[in-house]
Order: sequence, then structure tokens, then C-alpha cells
Amino acid sequence: MSIVMKPSASKDQVTEVVKMIRSSGLKVDVSSGQFQTVIGIIGDEKKINFDQVKSMPGVYDAIQIQVPYRLMSRTYIRQNVSVKVKGITIGEENEPVYMAGPCSIESYEQLYRIGKSVKEAGAHILRGGAYKPRTSVHSFQGLGLAGLKHLQNVGKDLDIPTVTEVRSEVDVKAVAKYADVIQIGTRNMYNQDLIEAAAREEKPILFKRNFSAQIDEYLSFAERIIANGNKKIILCERGISPLGGSFKNQTRFTLDLNAVPVLRKETPFPIIVDPSHGTGRKDLILPMSRAAIASGAHGLMIEVHDRPHDALSDANQSIQPGQLVEIIKMCNLIYKTISESEAPFSSDLNGNGHS
Ligand code: PEP
Ligand code: MN
Repeated sequence: MSIVMKPSASKDQVTEVVKMIRSSGLKVDVSSGQFQTVIGIIGDEKKINFDQVKSMPGVYDAIQIQVPYRLMSRTYIRQNVSVKVKGITIGEENEPVYMAGPCSIESYEQLYRIGKSVKEAGAHILRGGAYKPRTSVHSFQGLGLAGLKHLQNVGKDLDIPTVTEVRSEVDVKAVAKYADVIQIGTRNMYNQDLIEAAAREEKPILFKRNFSAQIDEYLSFAERIIANGNKKIILCERGISPLGGSFKNQTRFTLDLNAVPVLRKETPFPIIVDPSHGTGRKDLILPMSRAAIASGAHGLMIEVHDRPHDALSDANQSIQPGQLVEIIKMCNLIYKTISESEAPFSSDLNGNGHS
């Protein structure tokens, strides 16, 4: 349920509604917009008497939300949400934001070299993994805390915001301390405790879709971030594994670009695309980056390594900094062409093409 207050509602009237909901043992999310306040309910709405809420002073309407991800829905939040990371804005109708850097942080020098080149190429945020999710225990597992420190130092030295993955609840505080954006990776999309612990740090969360998750499930788990008081959510499509991985084509995963316009319709939160993990192939990064921006993504996350043959992880999908320059140039051109056309990205939200 979404309780929409009248524009003229007083603070006390909002407080009364909040009190009433809390007295039923439920939690609330209060969204104060420019014109009116909207109150969302967290928990079992059946405990609330719909008609009673509607008749309370200051209440304009109480709307039942049909999707399970109520707080992530456009019915609840009407305006597009943008997420600010230091001076960078992700979402709304801003130009695409590019996050780039190595799969793994290998040393201060490696990250500084790559960070400098991706910044010069036009990237806005530096990525790099310190806690790596790896299939094999024999592979490089990441530098852990030492890696986080390199990330913070390089971020400061190059004046660029940073993003890195947290794999375990134990490391949430450290990742929040050393990085500007906390990434939750595909394998942890279902990890309720990790999501909630990360959300409580109040930092922006880059929340990747699990490679087997349906959109409803994905948004329902993202909802846990808001339910824990954090609306700085950046969604990320990073490729799915159809039929549990039994359907193999020539790519590591299948980059589900259908998800981009679907998510944009369902939720006002920004969505970026990761063509690196989505394809697993460096030769596909450029075409799939172009396609991602054309489909309406608010940005891209791309793995870059200046010496890919020496990369300690994901060498096959890491592009060189020079290729990133080309990708950013082309994607900005695509973005500009579409946003200035007669059918800009915002028109996708009006149900065009539905029969
Ligand atoms: C990553 O971005 O470093 C990563 C491991 O991605 P994913 O969780 O999408 O596999
Ligand atoms: Mn990787």
C-alpha cells in the first residue's frame, strides 16, 4: 500500500499515519517529495485497515500496489530516482555513467596505471575487486583489505570515485569505509543478510542481478535495501544463464538487454549494464555496450586491463584502455542521438509498442 498525503497535509498528520502503521507492528518508509509525502508500508499490509487509513486527516489516497516489490515500483515512487556518487549523478536523463577498471586489484601500481587511463578515457568511477568471487579455490582470490586500501588511495590520488564488491557480511564495514559504492555481486543477490548489512551503511549500492533471477525476484531482493532505509540503489544487468547454464552458446553468459527497458518500466531506479561478465569476450564489449546504451541503460561497467595477458582474473573479457575511449565516444553519440530524437528514452516509459 502507498499512502499519499494531501499537499496541504501537516507534519502532525503525517506523524499520526506513521504512528497508526507502527502500532500494528509494521515499519514505514516515508518519501517526502517536492509537493507531497508518500508513506510506504514494510511488512504484512493485511494488518492495516485500508478504509480507516483513507479516512485519516491529511490522507489524499491509499493505493494498493499490485507487484511484490512495492517500494521499488513506479506506483510508489513516481519520479525517476538518480543516485549521486560524489559529484557524479547516475540515472534520470543524464548522460551515461561509465564505471571501468580491472576485474581484480593486483597492486597499487597496477590500479593507479589503469585508473589513470580509464579516467583519461572518460570513465567516471573506478572499479576493482578486492574480495573476488571465484569458482576455483586455486584461482587468485583477491587482495582483501590490502586491495581496499589500494582502491581508496588510488581513488584519492586520481580524484575518482570507486566501487568494489563485498562478498561477506564480515567485510561490509571495511568496504563501506574504503569505497564510495558497495557492489553486491551476482552470486549474492539472494543473500538477505549481506544485502541488509550493506544497505545499513547508507552508501550507494550497486546491486547485480543473479544470473538465474527473474525480474520479480531481482526487484524483490533490491526492495530489502529500501526496507533498510537506503534508496541509493543502482541496478545492474550482467548476463543470465538460461536453463541453469545447460544452454551454451558462444558466450560466458547471455546479456539480457530485454531487462533494461523492462526494469525502466517497473522501477524508477537507475540501471547499468555490465557487458564484460555478460559476454565474457573482449571482442563483444563494443557491440554490446552500444546495444546497452541504445536499450536505455544509464551507464556501463566495463573491465579494463592495460596488460590483459598478465591479468590475474578475467583476462579474456578485459579490454585495453584505448578500446574504452572508442566505446565511450560511440556510446555518448548513441545516447545523444536517441535523447534528441522524436522518440527519446523517456518515451519508452509510456507503453509504446504494447498491444
Ligand atoms: C565483478 O564485477 O567483479 C563480478 C564478479 O561480477 P558478477 O558478480 O556479475 O559476476
Ligand atoms: Mn571479473
